[in-house]
Amino acid sequence: MKFEDYRISNDIKRSLAEKGFKKPTDIQFKAIPNILKGEDVLAIAQTGTGKTAAFAIPVINILHTNPPEWFAKGSVRALVMVPTHELAQQIAEVFKEIAKYTKLRILALFGSTDQDPQIAAFQKGVDILVTTPGRMFDLRAQGYIDFRGTEFLILDEADRMLDMGFYKDIEDVIRFLPKNKQTLFFSATIDEKIKKLAYSIVKNAIRIQI
Ligand code: AMP
Repeated sequence: MKFEDYRISNDIKRSLAEKGFKKPTDIQFKAIPNILKGEDVLAIAQTGTGKTAAFAIPVINILHTNPPEWFAKGSVRALVMVPTHELAQQIAEVFKEIAKYTKLRILALFGSTDQDPQIAAFQKGVDILVTTPGRMFDLRAQGYIDFRGTEFLILDEADRMLDMGFYKDIEDVIRFLPKNKQTLFFSATIDEKIKKLAYSIVKNAIRIQI
């Protein structure tokens, strides 16, 4: 199976071809069709396996092919939570490359930088927000981000987020996001703590381990 044969937009096939992605990796082969169908997914996959594109390709396809009828100021369609600034930048870059031929707006958000350009981006609208928890909670508390219409929650490197003490932040996010959303949970490792978290937020997910 090649990306050419996938039921995804030609706008995405074009950017994948430019990146030199011809065939899906194992994790992509298993995750992409399930995500495109609207399933929640719990995936155990390490860095280097192509896990980023495994969630970025289908999420971009769904958002690109289903534009919202209206866009409220500050609204976010997909929230991607990651443990570190570096990862937020890297993941946002992958989203931007794959979404190059779409109009989707992608923002990497993290603390210790000037907040004004970030606020300006929210005023214009953000489709995909890639963020560490801190700054996102700040801007939400200040009323700049509106998660009422959020369609996707993606947790990447969930195990590292727990190691860094973000358990409560994840619980809080679950509380304020709409119930009716698609959740994608990615972790490099699985232990009791991860299982407990996964059970509480993606109980009926399709499980993928590579
Ligand atoms: P990741 O596991 O997301 O950090 O990706 C690891 C590396 O694999 C990155 O450099 C990607 O650009 C590359 N990659 C991801 N998917 C593919 C693919 N289908 N074909 C070729 N390279 C890929």
